[in-house]
Amino acid sequence: MIIGVPKEIKNREFRVSLTPSGVAELVSRKHQVLVQKDAGLGSGFSNEQYTHAGATVFEHAADVYAKADLIIKVKEPLASEYALIKEGQIVFTYFHFASSEELTHAMIERKAICIAYETIQKADQSLPILTPMSEVAGRMSIQIAAHYLEKGNGGSGKLMGGVPGVKPARVLILGGGVVGTQAAKMAAGLGAEVILMDINLTRLRYLTDVLPANVTCLYPTKTLIEEYLPHTDVLVGAVLIPGGKAPVLASREMVETMPGGSVVIDVAVDQGGCIETCKPTSHEHPIFLVNDIIHYCVPNIPGAVPVTSTNALTNASLPYLLQLADKGWKDACRQSAEIEKGLSIAAGKVTDAMLAKTFQLSL
Ligand code: NAD
Repeated sequence: MIIGVPKEIKNREFRVSLTPSGVAELVSRKHQVLVQKDAGLGSGFSNEQYTHAGATVFEHAADVYAKADLIIKVKEPLASEYALIKEGQIVFTYFHFASSEELTHAMIERKAICIAYETIQKADQSLPILTPMSEVAGRMSIQIAAHYLEKGNGGSGKLMGGVPGVKPARVLILGGGVVGTQAAKMAAGLGAEVILMDINLTRLRYLTDVLPANVTCLYPTKTLIEEYLPHTDVLVGAVLIPGGKAPVLASREMVETMPGGSVVIDVAVDQGGCIETCKPTSHEHPIFLVNDIIHYCVPNIPGAVPVTSTNALTNASLPYLLQLADKGWKDACRQSAEIEKGLSIAAGKVTDAMLAKTFQLSL
């Protein structure tokens, strides 16, 4: 199979979908890999490293798309990339379809075979290709929050962990999956008072056992969230319904009760967000204010630490890419229930029930 690796074009997206060692693995199995010039530079990989691994480097994205049977990317195709996608071409990437009806319709029209990283799911319900990026985003959310809490950056001027004799900041995390757990660990490590809420009681029991004593795990009722928000310095949104739109857990009215200079980070913004006041921002313009409350809603947070993120992503995606390349998408889906869960759109039809439900499309 011919596998194409275009350069990412989303704002300040420095990740690349395949490392040179991933290329070498494909080439050793007799596949051909085409890489767009400079695609790996932001992640620390030169064009020479790719050619040395056996890839052919092309100057323009159009050449990569025109020749490849399978396009592997990091982020969803942007409008300027839609027309490059050919009928029957496999596109393997993060799509987050539920947050974009436009992208969903574009992929249906292009008759592409869309396999979404974020809905590939193991039998234990875990999401193996979303997990590493959620680990990065969860950890980063607290670094980012600490930065914006500083007075000079517009925040309230509170130190996340306080100091002996002075209270720490309070961090409220909605969702205790991968993002929420990593955020809780980071915030707790800095000494913050952390409240983590999740509707999954089994998960709450587990987290209560493994997280440090400065993390309190609670079941999220509207009343409880309302009670906490006026005394919350950092609110992190981290809920997920796989393949679906995130439920809104904090309304505008509720967010507006937070103190001035507090920070809201909706990591779930890529699935529509779970905090009503959030809308997607970019690494270039990451924040906006609602009253005096700082909102950070970048949908590709891991793009800011591409060296870590690219390696973590390839570790997770390569085993699935090898199956797709070796078997073709039909046999790969037949033989792997995990990959089949990732199949969202094929030959002009939606194949994922949750996506069909989100935009009322037929299967
Ligand atoms: P996950 O599946 O590991 O965890 C989601 C958690 O949400 C689960 O524990 C689930 O029980 C909980 N949940 C579902 N509905 C809930 C509700 N109504 N109230 C409270 N909890 C609820 O998912 P994850 O890997 O942690 O990802 C979370 C979100 O972060 C996803 O939308 C993901 O796409 C996103 N994400 C964003 C970035 C970014 O750069 N912005 C990066 C990685 C992941």
